[in-house]
Amino acid sequence: MELLGMLTLISIVFGALVGSFLNVCIVRLPKEESIITPGSHCPHCKKAIKFYDNVPLVSYLLLRGKCRYCKKTISFQYPLVEGITALSSLFLFMRFGPSLSYLIYFVFVAALIVITVIDLYHQIIPDVISLPGIGVGLLASLIFSHIAFLDSLIGVLLGGGSLFLVATLYQWFFKREGMGGGDVKLLAMIGAFLGWKAVILTILLSSLIGSIIGIIIMVLKGKDFKYAIPFGPFLSLGAVIALFFGNHLINWYLYINR
Ligand SMILES: [Zn+2]
Repeated sequence: MELLGMLTLISIVFGALVGSFLNVCIVRLPKEESIITPGSHCPHCKKAIKFYDNVPLVSYLLLRGKCRYCKKTISFQYPLVEGITALSSLFLFMRFGPSLSYLIYFVFVAALIVITVIDLYHQIIPDVISLPGIGVGLLASLIFSHIAFLDSLIGVLLGGGSLFLVATLYQWFFKREGMGGGDVKLLAMIGAFLGWKAVILTILLSSLIGSIIGIIIMVLKGKDFKYAIPFGPFLSLGAVIALFFGNHLINWYLYINR
């Protein structure tokens, strides 16, 4: 097999393995448990999971989604996160090739995946991911050349500042908290990795997608539906679209507004 084909395959396997670790983070971070010890175990019968039952995606299929010992259903979250992380790794590798940019953006997208699933389950965005994420993004821009440091720094300030302003105005206007401080830190992290232009694009895209989904849910569930839809998943989705298609979208926008 040619080298590039081999590396592409490795990027998928690597993504699936990282996805398996992300599942551990998703389950344990909200409970403030260690992500290193103890090893993986069944949440029902507590039996330790053997390495051959812990192969990303493959084991889930072989075990048909059931624990080997107690036969209780294994959450579909596991193969889903492994699959999405594997695909993210593949698409980033196809976009950026065997480069540092691939690694930096893979770290970024992996953080977004953990944040999205935790926010969907618990309506919180853990500071232990977003705050170090801001630091890692800034540091990466200082050391590597995927974006300029100033671009990253303005991204952090714009991302943190603009959402903070919106959140404050919302609270003042509706007398209740709409957007959490978690969203502010997440957008600052997005700014650190992608720069300030991507922050603007992310706000536009996530508001658009969020409004459409919000309207659909209100139509389906009735308008006194009270569950606050978490905004983190939309910010994450907007950021991923900005990462892959940002330049195309900005060029297209400038083109139609000539
Ligand atoms: Zn079990």
